This record gives sequence, C-alpha cells and structure tokens, in this order.
Amino acid sequence: MRSPRNPARRALILVAGVFAFFLNAIAQTQTADTVVLNGRIYTVNSLKPWAEAVAIRDGKILAVGTAKEIASYRSASTKVIDAQRHLVLPGFTDSHIHFLDGSLGLLRVRLEDANSIAEIQARVKDFAAKHPDAKWILGRGWSYPVFAPAGLPDKKILDEVLPDRPVYLEAFDGHTYWANSKALELAGITKETPDPLNGTIVRDPTTKEATGALQEDAADALMEPAIPPPSREEKLRAFRAGMHEANRVGLVRVHSASGETPANDDFGNADLLDELRKSGELTVRFYLARRAVPPEFGAEQIEEVEAARRKYHDDWISAGAVKFFLDGVVEGHTAAMLSPYSDDPKLSGSLFWDPAKYKQLVAELDKRGMQIFTHAIGDKAVRLALDAYAEAADRNHTHDSRHRIEHIETIAADDIPRFGKLGVIASMQPLHAYPDDNTLKIWARNAGPEREQRGFAWRSIEKSGGVLAFGSDWPVVTLNPWSGIQNAVTRQTTEGTPSGSWLPKERISLESAIKGYTLGAAIGGHREKTEGSLEVGKVADLIVVSQDLFKIKPSQIAKTEVLLTMVGGKVGCKSSAWKEPAAAGGEQ
Ligand SMILES: [Zn+2]
Repeated sequence: MRSPRNPARRALILVAGVFAFFLNAIAQTQTADTVVLNGRIYTVNSLKPWAEAVAIRDGKILAVGTAKEIASYRSASTKVIDAQRHLVLPGFTDSHIHFLDGSLGLLRVRLEDANSIAEIQARVKDFAAKHPDAKWILGRGWSYPVFAPAGLPDKKILDEVLPDRPVYLEAFDGHTYWANSKALELAGITKETPDPLNGTIVRDPTTKEATGALQEDAADALMEPAIPPPSREEKLRAFRAGMHEANRVGLVRVHSASGETPANDDFGNADLLDELRKSGELTVRFYLARRAVPPEFGAEQIEEVEAARRKYHDDWISAGAVKFFLDGVVEGHTAAMLSPYSDDPKLSGSLFWDPAKYKQLVAELDKRGMQIFTHAIGDKAVRLALDAYAEAADRNHTHDSRHRIEHIETIAADDIPRFGKLGVIASMQPLHAYPDDNTLKIWARNAGPEREQRGFAWRSIEKSGGVLAFGSDWPVVTLNPWSGIQNAVTRQTTEGTPSGSWLPKERISLESAIKGYTLGAAIGGHREKTEGSLEVGKVADLIVVSQDLFKIKPSQIAKTEVLLTMVGGKVGCKSSAWKEPAAAGGEQ
C-alpha cells in the first residue's frame, strides 16, 4: 500500500534525504588537484564514451563529463591541463612485453634498421670504440634477409671488425644469436660441443665448425655463463630508459611476459622496480609473470611466485602470474601443429612440455589463484592450453581465472569459440601479423592456405565473445602501439599492401583496437575495476595524442604521436610537440 502517512515509509524518505545531502556535501568538498579541459575524450566506457573534461584527485579520477560539470571541481589551486581539442584516451597497456630485455637493448648496439652487412659492421665497430671498457659488445635487432641467401650470419663478419673482443648479437625475433670467434672461445663452444635439447649450434657443412649462429634459447644458454651479467646500475639505467620510451609512446602499464635469463628477467628484478618506486621514479605500472621452463619448474619455483605475490600486489607493481612456453614459431617450423607444415610434410613442430605435466602444473597454479600465460602459436599448442585451462576449472571449481594464451597465430576452427566460452584471454600482438614478405611468403607458406584463413584471427575470437588483450612482444617488434592499432584495423603494410588487405575478415574496428590496449588489457590483468577506461574511481592514467584517430584515414594511424602522458595523475612525459596554451593556469 502506498501511503505517505505510513511512518516506516516516512522514515525511509528522511534517511534517503539525509544520505543524498551527505553525498552532495562529499562531492562539494572533493576539489580536484588537476583537471583536463577542452579534450575530445574517448573514455572507452561504453555507457559514456565521449566527454570534454576530467577531474582528478590523488591520482584517481573524480569526475568525467562536460566542461560545465567539471568546472565545479576546480579551486584556485587546481592545476589545469588544456587538451586544446586533441583526442584524449586512457593510458595504454602493453599486455606482452619483455621489458628489461628491451630496455637493456636501448643501451646497446641497435641493429633494428641496419640493412646491410657493412652497416652492421660499422655500428659494432663504432659502439666498441665508444665503449672501450665494455668487456662484451652486446646488441640486438638484426634480421635474416641481410644475410641472404643463407639467411644466417657468420662469425667471420664480426671477426673482421673485432677480432679480439667478444661480440654477441641477438636477432630481432629473439630466436637466433650471433657470436664472433672470441665469444665462442670464451663460452667454450667448439666443434665437439653437442647441440642442446631444443636448440642448434649452426655448423659449417664441410668443416663442422660452429659458424657463430646459435638457434633458440637453449643454444643461447650455452653462451650466457660467459657473458658478465649487467650490473645493478646498468639495469636501473635500462629501466629508466625503457620507462621513458614507454611513456613517450603512450604506455602506462606493461604485463611482463618474463625474460630469457636472470639478467634480463623483469620478475627476477622486481626489487629494482621497487627501488625506483621508492625514489619516485616509477612512471610505468608493472605486472610480472615468472617464466616456467621444463623440467625445473616445481614446488620451489611456485613458492617464489607466492613470495613475490605476497610482496607485490598493488597498482604499481604486482606479481603472481606464471608464463609457460608450449612451442616455438611458424617461420622456424617449431610451432606445434595439429597437422604437418604445408611446405614440409615431415614437420609438424613439437610441444616443449609433456602435455600431462603441463596440465598438472596448470591445475596446481589455478588452484592457488595464479594467472597463467601460455605461449602457444601452433594450433596444437593453442588447443592444449585451452584443454588444460578447461580441465583445471572443472577440477578446482574455479571461475573467472582469466588464464591467457599468448600469440595464437594459428587456431583450429572449433577452438575459436572456446575463448569466449571458457573466459580465456586472447593476448595477441597486432604487429606480428604485419603483412610483409616474412608473413605473406614464409609464414603463409609454412602454415598453408587452409590454416592461413585463420591466421591471427582477432575478429573471429572477438565475435565469439573472447576478450582481446593487445601488446607488442617488445623487443621482438617496436613497443609503439600506434603501428599495432593501424595493423589491427587495416592488416596492410604502411605502403598499403596487399591492396585488399590480408584476410580482411579478421580486421577489427578502431574502437576494438583501442580497447585491446586499454580495457581489454585491463581485463586480461584482472584490473578492469581500477584501470582501462576513464571512469570515476579509476586511476588517472591518460594520454593526449596528436591526431584524432576517429577522423583520419586508418593508413595514417601509425603516425600518431603522444603529446602528453599522465600516470597516476602526474604528467610523466611531454612531447616537444606539446604546446602549453598561453593562458592556462588555476583561474576559474
Ligand atoms: Zn614474448
């Protein structure tokens, strides 16, 4: 019965009124320490996708709305950032990165754009001359076509320029390494050294001598003991350089997919990140996974992850994920396939883990509430990961564990809808599908036309309910997410090839691509309650960019520059292109 004379009802109205009054009073006292005004703000919040202004206090978002709404949060001391009608987005997350590895590379010989043997020799020589105290000359980024037709480098090329100092250079994709004679000598690698399990010492066909090319991490591991690890100071310097680079391109959080060695592993160097946090230098948020490599991953290593999780579990540094590698890559025929490679029916790749052992560990970690990242590129590896996650959830009665599969370059048609159904996160790297010769000739040849149809199937996974979390895999490719967004939307090279795009049905919308680097990534790291979109209560991580992605041709997206990056309410990085408006200040 509806009667205002009902005393209970009157009391209720009174209570509600008092509550509303207090809510209002709280809102009034919450003045912003910073406001961003005059933005074309794309919030990634589907309930309120566009806004003009944001109010921020203590590193969190206080309000998002029109200029008028946000004006009420300003006081004389509020700092004003005038976005000058630029596009504003949530800060980006890179969901798959090898951060310290990439960052150390910023301090070493950089060969990403060295297109000839002479250029490589010149850079190595130049670096060595400038760093007379460096015991080893280390670097990365060379690519295979430079050494055509063999496709692999030789120690002699390096011996010509540096015969008496060790040189060791990693390929751009991290799958092949290149040593000079001095480096091989110091590592004790000779004609007699046997190939390690899952790795190859490339040898001269006639003399059987090592050529200096070492394939896969297992072969790299033979070299590692000889290389002096980077000092603490060097690693700190690298982290600083890496964070600057990340902020410069709009990244505010990374999900570390671990490193190859203790020297470049993010998880194993969490104490250095903690040190940077204490000194107020941390401008990137870190989520750290520990690498699980057979056979030694067991109780002791799980306890390491537990300990890290107890220690690091806040907005800035968190640990507690475990990264498995199930297979290799399609280009090298090492990705594990359900049926043989198209160019060589004798090969179908192989699994790095015994399936039963992998499933048992997945179940064990799932029970402990640890998130699992599994590198799976071949359709057989993808299926095993999905099976393992499904079985673990059944066995442990766990829900919403959000285990992830990293890469997913090929997939069986039946497995596509399982991402949505099982709640498995598809952690993919749009630039790995960049349709250059490597993809269209080597990758597609090896995978074959049937599997190619489901190559990097972003749209199919999304359509069937799967969450996409995007990243780079830096230093394998650039950490610049704008090239990634462009490729996710176009599947064309920057030259516009192929003209009809590569598998156009797997292109995604601009909104979906942005989501992959923001809210999708936040979901992929269990952080969507506090990150991933510009909403009240979430962290104040945002970027102001040079061009309006919604108004330009997709082929121009990669040219986007980040003008300003804000992390936790603080401006972490400003581009030289950012111009402060003349009259910005604290005035009302
Ligand atoms: Zn990776």
